[in-house]
Amino acid sequence: MSIDLHAHTTASDGSLSPCELVSRAREIGLSALGITDHDTIGGWNEAFEAGAQAGIEIVPGVELSVSYEGGRFHLLGYYIDPDSALIETLKRIQAARADRNGEILDNLRALGLPLEEAFVRSFSGSPDGQLGRPHFAQAMVARGYVSSTQQAFDLYLADGKPAYATKAVLTPRDAIEGIRAAGGVSVWAHPPLNRHFSLDELGQKAAQWRAWGLDGLETFYSKYTPEENAWARAVCCELDLIESGGSDFHGRSKPTVFLGQSFAHQPVPDEVLQKLKARRDTVREQAAREQAPM
Ligand code: AMP
Ligand code: ZN
Ligand code: FE
Ligand code: FE
Repeated sequence: MSIDLHAHTTASDGSLSPCELVSRAREIGLSALGITDHDTIGGWNEAFEAGAQAGIEIVPGVELSVSYEGGRFHLLGYYIDPDSALIETLKRIQAARADRNGEILDNLRALGLPLEEAFVRSFSGSPDGQLGRPHFAQAMVARGYVSSTQQAFDLYLADGKPAYATKAVLTPRDAIEGIRAAGGVSVWAHPPLNRHFSLDELGQKAAQWRAWGLDGLETFYSKYTPEENAWARAVCCELDLIESGGSDFHGRSKPTVFLGQSFAHQPVPDEVLQKLKARRDTVREQAAREQAPM
């Protein structure tokens, strides 16, 4: 049995609907699948229904963007309560994202690369899913402005490039504490993907985040080098963090990433999910004890 705890659907910038993603998971024999869209839990319900039918355990999650010491990072929140205050925060972030998409369109127009929002939206598989930069990148390829989505990022859309517009983000402390308060488990996603910091510097940040309540870190990740995988495992061991991970499957917009394949094309081992759930239960028991009258 193998699992994948990091995947995107049409609720954000994946190209498969939750239902299609679950079908794919069944085809490749996954026993559990994490749904981790950017800033939204909009894919959960459809995934839960499809997962129940397919006999696949759905691990509900969300991927938040955080800003820390001049860098941008992603933080995963698993098992957050859909009725918690964190969901209101997500709604605010989604509204800000719509403004930011307008800014990206303005920037592209100023660069002589005009796109219409409806055209960008046509690369999203869902009429009410969130638009993100991978959709802009696909639209730019289709218009012939660039030859690949990666080139669209490298020349225009990546952080700091001319069409980039900043996104509303949380501090890691607020995100970690918000996930904890929502009864969830926080996992720092793919830290080394931020190339502005050395592994040593990232390790120092992990220690600080741990003090704020960080639960885990991705050690199994499709794009890790062997050195990054070894670094992540050592940090987990040293800081007593749980290990997590997955493919970060997006479908069409990341054609070299395959569902069910994490570090070194291997699936994530089953016991990772057991530990994630054990951590969730501990977090919730602690919260219940703290709330109980003395
Ligand atoms: P957004 O949520 O609109 O900020 O888009 C974030 C997504 O864009 C990430 O999940 C990545 O899939 C993709 N992305 C961000 N930066 C890059 C980059 N430099 N190269 C390729 N893809 C990127
Ligand atoms: Zn994405
Ligand atoms: Fe990410
Ligand atoms: Fe992701």
